Amino acid sequence: MDFANTVYDPNDPAGTLRSWNDLVDFLEVVGARNRSEATRLRAMNIHDPRGCSKAFANAMLLRDSLRKVLTAIEAKKRIPPEWIMAINAVLRANEGYERLVRTKMGWGLMFDTRREEPLQALVCVARSAAKLIEQGLNAPVRKCSNPNCVLYFYDVSRTRRRRWCSMAICGNRMKVAAYARRHSERKGMLKKPL
Ligand SMILES: [Zn+2]
Repeated sequence: MDFANTVYDPNDPAGTLRSWNDLVDFLEVVGARNRSEATRLRAMNIHDPRGCSKAFANAMLLRDSLRKVLTAIEAKKRIPPEWIMAINAVLRANEGYERLVRTKMGWGLMFDTRREEPLQALVCVARSAAKLIEQGLNAPVRKCSNPNCVLYFYDVSRTRRRRWCSMAICGNRMKVAAYARRHSERKGMLKKPL
């Protein structure tokens, strides 16, 4: 959802992601990658710029598909297979095996990828999208009620009646607008001759 929301203005289709490094920054900010992993991913851009720009193009396709998927889930419409393809293309990069590694507690089961490639950086986003799609059309995906806002959110509120992407941004803005509207209507009424 955060990944889809990196497009926040319909007139600016690139949103906050314009390069491989922007993508790595995003993954670090949302906690999908820790600092040392992010540093390694940034270094990848120096050793394999072509691979990284290809993976970045894949990221943009993934985001387009994901935004369409969210629109469909919100409108309770069927998700066509072509939107799934971009997600599966990224999941395919997650080739690997599980193995036991030493941990503080003793041993832990870890997943190791067979070879390192830039596209793997997106696997966490694709997996998260896949889990959402698995939930089906009843997943509580909502679009912000502000008609000028394009952001989506996952409604985990108890009543499932959350309306805004963020109370601090759209919630307050819409409440202020509604207040101003009511206020001006009232003023208009007073002006009317009795
Ligand atoms: Zn909003």
